[in-house]
Amino acid sequence: MSRRILRVAVPTPLARAFDYRLPPSLSSVQPGARVRVPFGRREVVGVALGVVDVSVIAPEKLKSVQAVLDAEPLWPAALLALLNWAAAYYHAPIGEVMQAALPVLLRRGADPASTNEKRYRVTAAGLALTAAKFPRAPLQWHLLRLLQENPEGLNAATLNTQMENWRAPLQRLLARDLIVRDVGPVTLHRNQMPAPPLVLNEAQRIAVAAMAAASGRFQSLLLHGVTGSGKTEVYLHAITRVVEQGGQALVLVPEIGLTPQLVERFVARLTVPVVVMHSALNDGERLSAWQAARSGQAGVVIGTRSAIFTPMPTLALIVIDEEHDASYKQQDGVRYHARDVAIKRARLENLPVVLGSATPSLESFSNAEQGRYQTLALPERTAHARPPAVQVLDLRRLKLHDGLSAPLVEALQAVLARGEQSLVFLNRRGFAPVLMCHDCGWLAPCKRCDARLTIHQRRRQLRCHHCGAEATLPERCPACASANLHGIGEGTERVEAALARLLPTARLERIDRDSTRRKGSLADALARVRAGAVDVLVGTQMLAKGHDFPNLTLVAVLNADQGLYSSDFRSEERLVQQLVQVAGRAGRADKPGTVLIQTYHPDNPVFSAIAHHDYREFAAYALSERTAAGYPPASHLVLLRAESPRPQAALGFLQQARTLALNIGVPAEVTVQDAVPSAMERRAGRYRAQLLAQSSSRPVLHGFLGRWRDCLDQERRARDVRWSLDVDPAEMS
Ligand code: ADP
Ligand code: ZN
Ligand code: ZN
Repeated sequence: MSRRILRVAVPTPLARAFDYRLPPSLSSVQPGARVRVPFGRREVVGVALGVVDVSVIAPEKLKSVQAVLDAEPLWPAALLALLNWAAAYYHAPIGEVMQAALPVLLRRGADPASTNEKRYRVTAAGLALTAAKFPRAPLQWHLLRLLQENPEGLNAATLNTQMENWRAPLQRLLARDLIVRDVGPVTLHRNQMPAPPLVLNEAQRIAVAAMAAASGRFQSLLLHGVTGSGKTEVYLHAITRVVEQGGQALVLVPEIGLTPQLVERFVARLTVPVVVMHSALNDGERLSAWQAARSGQAGVVIGTRSAIFTPMPTLALIVIDEEHDASYKQQDGVRYHARDVAIKRARLENLPVVLGSATPSLESFSNAEQGRYQTLALPERTAHARPPAVQVLDLRRLKLHDGLSAPLVEALQAVLARGEQSLVFLNRRGFAPVLMCHDCGWLAPCKRCDARLTIHQRRRQLRCHHCGAEATLPERCPACASANLHGIGEGTERVEAALARLLPTARLERIDRDSTRRKGSLADALARVRAGAVDVLVGTQMLAKGHDFPNLTLVAVLNADQGLYSSDFRSEERLVQQLVQVAGRAGRADKPGTVLIQTYHPDNPVFSAIAHHDYREFAAYALSERTAAGYPPASHLVLLRAESPRPQAALGFLQQARTLALNIGVPAEVTVQDAVPSAMERRAGRYRAQLLAQSSSRPVLHGFLGRWRDCLDQERRARDVRWSLDVDPAEMS
């Protein structure tokens, strides 16, 4: 009679679980299985947490479980423990954590095994064609050739591992009847002819050996390798060993779309099926990738942030590439950090976790210094490649035209004359960040944000980069009707136009979020660069990551200082990481590379670290600054954020929250600062404010946070104030 009460995690922002009666008609339910339960006036899919004897709810008031959806738990016990840990650590509702960990179709109640997927197969007509028939459509030919090599057909999950942005060419091939669509069970692609491994150098060999020595137990390893030092090769060797012994490996990467080469390298080298998981997958593809991992069919999973929650029964190694990357931190909903969750997972599942980077986060750097992580260093580039020569151009003594100084233009001309490639880096898209009237001083503002609108000349538009608002570029000043309107400052569009004038013979390619909006356009552009059809690349951080262009010998950084003016205590760290990444694109093969950096602050330690290729020097300096200021990793932070369409409401709520904190008692080790408006107070029509809590002791902070959160949950407050708690915030505004 007792033990028929089921505790269920329900998808709701309320930070607790809910109890339901388990009718005798339903078999017992395992923790981690999904159930259908009534919730308010709806029916929802929740996850069983466990059977309990008593509930605080009176028995007659308990509602009944409607259906049990899974005979088996969706996650093994260790992963279930990880989800519970994440809920506790991030002070997030367990129901929301579980939702975040599930593919959408499972959240809606689908059967995990119901992955009957579309497959694409070449027709007889398609089989007969050759490259000559596709002079203007290289992507169509690439896709068709793939399907010619796999006449039994390929599904979307496999195509994702073979080619980026295959959907547009697919539609065209379907329309030309060169391929057909079949429906069938998922077949994962196995590479029958793997490319041979490279012979490791000494530093790589030591790193691979350390990873092997750590197998079967928890160990964090920090692989600190300069750009082009062969980190990926190290991962490949370690993973090959793992899969040969029947284990699975999980590889987290920042953004798969930006580094198609990485997936290609993995697929080329491994004989086990590889699946990729990222945000561009549709719901069916995501579920089939998840199921392939959970069933053990997939030997390797390569995925972005949320892939850290993928069930993998024989998981033996986790790799986090570019571990310092900001994209590992989820910025809404459950605000977890995938790297930190990965380390916890490795601990719970007793396995090694490798954090790879040329520029480790100061948190990881400090953990390594204190011996919590084992450091593996790859201090040199492989083979013939030398580190690029870095030169800082002092803008206090140079004139700029459209953001370009004379020595920088000369360097671009020289590289062009040698038939080599250059990359011009500027982290701002659009034509100019401000439109100003030279007669009355009017600056085009966003109506919904405390920000200026960016000029997008080509589309004759003004756009807000914060809320997405768009307006037509005005001919006349709305304040004084003058036609004397000009763009101030420069973005990639303006620099591209200037380069077209200065280097009339150069073939230019601009790469930023605007130029790559159309599906397949980024892949096309990168292919053109690799094929040598581009002389000068102009672009934003999209160009910084991972690309390997052997003929690229010059990297020019236009507005390095932008990152120095932010109030965020991490801005210098971010700038160094970004500059090292982008500088690392120069001289990756046998031709020497040069990096030119324009700055008004040539003496800033950021630039000497880049010039000396000494990230350790920078990290030591930055860590001492952090310690002096009491910032992470010397302390632990929590940010309470609030927003409301009403001015002052968010700030008022946070002031109240602070009073509440003082009333329940703030431990001596914890500081709760005053509530302040956010750096950009109004954004998309909402007024924002924040409150920082800080402590040298994580356990004390978390104990306090639990009590504080409970009070905040109970607090009656204006309905139009939304708030959230961000543990270990990555962005300080
Ligand atoms: P990272 O990931 O550190 O930037 P990669 O793994 O991409 O470095 O390696 C950079 C280049 O060096 C690649 O072209 C790769 O094929 C090559 N490479 C890596 N390891 C070796 C090696 N042991 N011998 C020769 N070339 C190597
Ligand atoms: Zn005016
Ligand atoms: Zn706006």
